[in-house]
Amino acid sequence: MTRYAMVMDTRRCVGCDSCTVACMVHNELPLGIIFNPVITDGPKGVYPHVHMVHIPLLCMHCEETPCVHACPTGASQQDDDGIVWVEAAKCMGCGACVEACPYNARHKDRKSGVVLKCDFCKDRVRGGGNPHCVDTCHQRARIFGDLDDPTSEVFKIVNGMRTERLYEDLGTQPQVYYVIGLGGQEA
Ligand code: SF4
Ligand code: SF4
Repeated sequence: MTRYAMVMDTRRCVGCDSCTVACMVHNELPLGIIFNPVITDGPKGVYPHVHMVHIPLLCMHCEETPCVHACPTGASQQDDDGIVWVEAAKCMGCGACVEACPYNARHKDRKSGVVLKCDFCKDRVRGGGNPHCVDTCHQRARIFGDLDDPTSEVFKIVNGMRTERLYEDLGTQPQVYYVIGLGGQEA
């Protein structure tokens, strides 16, 4: 079985926003809608040893999906490989999934009236490619792959390093993992 996941190595992210822009361009997102913002926190530490922390965000493609459960029409769906997506033709724009998502990963498009979100570039990845944000990241801060494949890089990182997931206490089982630490240091 395939189970797609992404690792964000925050030690490598420089906060350049290339991934944010690549996603907007390739997915032709309406103005004002961003699927994967990068937030910056800091400076951290004590002078002269200070650094900024950049955290790329996107839909966490949770295993337990409050958004899918909240959708009254079946437009919000999760496929067997874990990808969560919205079937636009079935979306009536009620916004229930937007309210249900604790990660602010869903956005109602004012023009079309439907909800838009990251789908891990599902057509690309099922064809063997990477999401656009991953291919764009020159820092290799974003790593994508199959968590059920022991040879994949995501498997090795998630099972071999200390990683964190956002709001894990909510029980959503996010499939985006964060390597936290200073640049150049092991987490
Ligand atoms: Fe960070 Fe890579 Fe995105 Fe740049 S492209 S902000 S380095 S994740
Ligand atoms: Fe649903 Fe939000 Fe989880 Fe994505 S991050 S799967 S939209 S609850």
